[in-house]
Amino acid sequence: MTVGIWNLKFGIYIIGIYIIMRVFKFGGASVKDAAGIKNVYDVLQKVGYEDVLLVVSAMGKTTNALELVIKNYFDKSPELNSSVQEVKKYHNQIIMDLFEDEKNQVFVAVNLLFADLEYFLAHNKSPNYNFVYDQIVSFGELISTTILSHFMNFMGIKTQWLDVRNFIKTDANYRDAEVNWELTQKNISKNVKRKTLNITQGFLGSDENNFTTTLGREGSDYTAAIFAYCLNAESVTIWKDVPGVMNADPRYFEKARLLNQISYREAIELAFYGATVIHPKTLQPLQKKEIPLYVKSFINPLLKGTSVSRGADLEPYLPCFIVKRNQLLISLSSIDFSFIMEENISEIFALFHQFKLKVNLIQNSAISFSVCVEDKFGNFKELNTLLSKKFKVEYNENVTLYTIRHFDENAAKTVEHNKIVLLKQLSRETMQVITKE
Ligand code: ADP
Ligand code: ASP
Ligand code: MG
Repeated sequence: MTVGIWNLKFGIYIIGIYIIMRVFKFGGASVKDAAGIKNVYDVLQKVGYEDVLLVVSAMGKTTNALELVIKNYFDKSPELNSSVQEVKKYHNQIIMDLFEDEKNQVFVAVNLLFADLEYFLAHNKSPNYNFVYDQIVSFGELISTTILSHFMNFMGIKTQWLDVRNFIKTDANYRDAEVNWELTQKNISKNVKRKTLNITQGFLGSDENNFTTTLGREGSDYTAAIFAYCLNAESVTIWKDVPGVMNADPRYFEKARLLNQISYREAIELAFYGATVIHPKTLQPLQKKEIPLYVKSFINPLLKGTSVSRGADLEPYLPCFIVKRNQLLISLSSIDFSFIMEENISEIFALFHQFKLKVNLIQNSAISFSVCVEDKFGNFKELNTLLSKKFKVEYNENVTLYTIRHFDENAAKTVEHNKIVLLKQLSRETMQVITKE
């Protein structure tokens, strides 16, 4: 969109020099096969692609498949080569379904990327798991955007393929890198061309030595928000396999209903508690500049979906359910019946942070302290050894954490039905229940 602006110094109204971009994000589910990629083309035809930046994730479950490659690499498994071939086969099939002409440059471009991956596997000397993880897993997005960009060109839409690592600069905290906003802002302001369909990778960045970093699993929504923030974009649309943000994950709740509009605050709360339809880091940058976020269906792109904006009332007003499975409920109590006080609590939290356990609920009493955590990186065993030196540690594995925003009696009954409730916590707006099935 082109807008006019007032030049205050000279009192002139200047028309048509400032192009406001829209940022679209297409996730793994939307580009999982040739039909999906053709559908992206159809969506763009319907909603327009002028002044658009597309952020694209790896195709389907490619990131998981590359995680297997990483595991095989570190285990020195004989399956290493076959796991790489699986990823290759999957993408080759998609390319063959998309392009009739085997001379299309896409074949060369994708083969080159696989050659780079194989070169890395053969020559890497770094024993740093997280570093190696990012160097390997990033091929998912590099390959998907290469295929998508060639396909758009093939269909007559001119694109500009951007290597996101030249734009998003981060620290060297591999697998969970922190954005350097100042450098990122500079790169994006200077080098993103407007008036073109730009295509770039979600999830990736690079550190000061230009090594690839990643922003955390499912981080492509966040990439879209970073670009939108730095471009002062008109809006961000994340295209999903659901009609929008619903009052529950429709995979688990048959009667889930679409929320037409929600506030940033509500979206942050829902994402924070684990509504995986939006990555939790996505909202803050957008909220700061009041850039609206639309969550829409890539199957029905002309439907309204959900609009996330400032101060929007939850509409319709419904209890919202969030389920987090595979949680750990840990209870710590003092060995000598002394109180668990601020200094213990801060020490415990420092350890959770150090071992990268994400805390999803906290409850304390005089001599005990319970937390529900997610052990994404498998560090609990090691942490438990440390904690056990100072505290009596009890824990339940594999528990489920239900969160209900705007709960009512019926909603509470639904989640507790036929389950053993291990812990329950209520605040004004939110109820959390930990259950064992
Ligand atoms: P992407 O393809 O962008 O990675 P995701 O798979 O991460 O998309 O997000 C879409 C999925 O989020 C849906 O398929 C749905 O199962 C899940 N989901 C979880 N909570 C909600 C919710 N409240 N509303 C809609 N979808 C939800
Ligand atoms: N491909 C990455 C993942 O699966 C990032 C994303 O899809 O958002 O985690
Ligand atoms: Mg995803």
